[in-house]
Order: sequence, then C-alpha cells, then structure tokens
Amino acid sequence: MTTKSPKPLFNRVVVKLSGEALMGPDTHGLHAPTVQRMAGDLKAAAELGVQVAVVVGGGNFFRGLQGADKGIERARADSIGMLATVMNALAMEGALEKIGQPARVLSAVAMPSLCQPYSRQAALAHLVKRRVIILAGGTGNPFFTTDTGAALRAAELSCDAVMKATHVDGIYSADPKKDPAATRFERLSHDEAIARKLQVMDTAAFALARDNGIPIVVFSVDEPGAIPSALLGKGRATYVMP
Ligand code: UDP
Repeated sequence: MTTKSPKPLFNRVVVKLSGEALMGPDTHGLHAPTVQRMAGDLKAAAELGVQVAVVVGGGNFFRGLQGADKGIERARADSIGMLATVMNALAMEGALEKIGQPARVLSAVAMPSLCQPYSRQAALAHLVKRRVIILAGGTGNPFFTTDTGAALRAAELSCDAVMKATHVDGIYSADPKKDPAATRFERLSHDEAIARKLQVMDTAAFALARDNGIPIVVFSVDEPGAIPSALLGKGRATYVMP
C-alpha cells in the first residue's frame, strides 16, 4: 500500500517576508542563520510542488516613513526603502542557491547588473520552471508598501493566496504582545479586516486582495518548517477569505 503525500492548499502563492522576518534576534540588518532557515522553508515549500513567489520587505534596513521623519523627502526616502528590499532579495537568492534551490531575483526597480528587471512574463516563466522567484522593489513606486506589492504580484501572477509571515500565529483584535485581552480570529473577511483597522497589513493591500478574490493566510514563521506547514493547512493561522 502506498501512502499519499499530503496535498498543499494552494498551487501558486506569494509568500510575504518582511525585513523583520530576516532580522532574527538582531535589531537591524540580516541574521544569517534566520535567512538560511527561511530559505530552507521556501525550498521545502517548493518541494511540495507549490510555485513560490517571495515578496521581501526592507524594514530591517530602512523604511520610507522613518526617513521622512528625519527630513528626507518622502518619495526619496521610499526609494531608499525599495533599495533595502533588493539587499534582502539578493541575500535570500544566495541562501536558496546554497541549498540547491534554483532561485531568481526580479526587481521592480531595474538594476540589470544585480538582478533581472521584473516583468510578469519573466516571473511566470521562472515559476513554471520551479524556480523560487524573489520579488524586490515592492511595487516600484513610492508611497506603497511591500504588503501592497505582495497583493499586486499575487493578482498579476494569478496566485491562489498571499502567505503573510509574521511573528504571531494569526490576526488578533489587538497586539497580543501588548494587550492580554486580545482575541484571535480563525477566519475573517477582507472587509472586516479593513473595517477593524487591523494592523497586520495596510488597507491598500487588503483592498487589492479583496477586489481580486485572493485569500491572505497570516501565520508565524518563528518555528522551522512553518511555511510548508502553513501551505499544508497545519498549525495555527488566520484565513482572510472573500
Ligand atoms: N517601498 C516603496 N514602495 C513599495 C514598497 C516598498 O516605496 O512598493 C519602500 C517604503 O519606503 C517601505 C520600504 O520600501 O517603507 C520597505 O518596505 P516595507 O516597509 O513594506 O518592508 P517590511 O515592513 O515588509 O520589512
């Protein structure tokens, strides 16, 4: 008798990894063991047969709003933030290649000597060849976040879900680290998430996912194996569903 291998919930996903998810216990920059652990998780996700597009953030290096607070014009500060996402993407590409997982960085901000410029066609071609693609530069425009970039790429690449990796096991009514009365949602709609002003993603990201019928799965990446587990529907997560 043969045992069937478990079937993932989705065939093609965007995994949103914030800069913070790559920072590990540090307060800034890249924590090499954490980047390697995330790469291992992404490889395991690809080995489930899931086509994986990773959208990386840059908050571990720079956020536009912080720069603007220090007097840098917002659009310029956001350009610096987008560059930060490229640093994370290149680190992740290296970590994936090191463990034998083919990967390609595609950047919304063209930097051809470092990585391929993003195009939908190139992204789809890599995905069908089972390469993990790492999408840098967010949307390529200031005044947006990489969460919105994740929803945008999920829509244009016909992804089945956005897997939003965080440090908590789902969406809570308030920050569970600050408010002991915070309650956890098992499932909620995009409209509820927007109406409750839940901080887990910005409104533009929720609205874009809602308008394109894309579920968002919010889960914790603190444990090794969290990404393939979430793809198999194991472990705790909040499902934001139409
Ligand atoms: N950013 C931008 N346009 C985008 C995506 C990101 O200008 O489409 C800039 C913005 O300044 C942002 C920074 O890049 O603060 C880093 O992205 P984000 O804050 O989303 O990173 P994360 O919080 O996920 O680490």
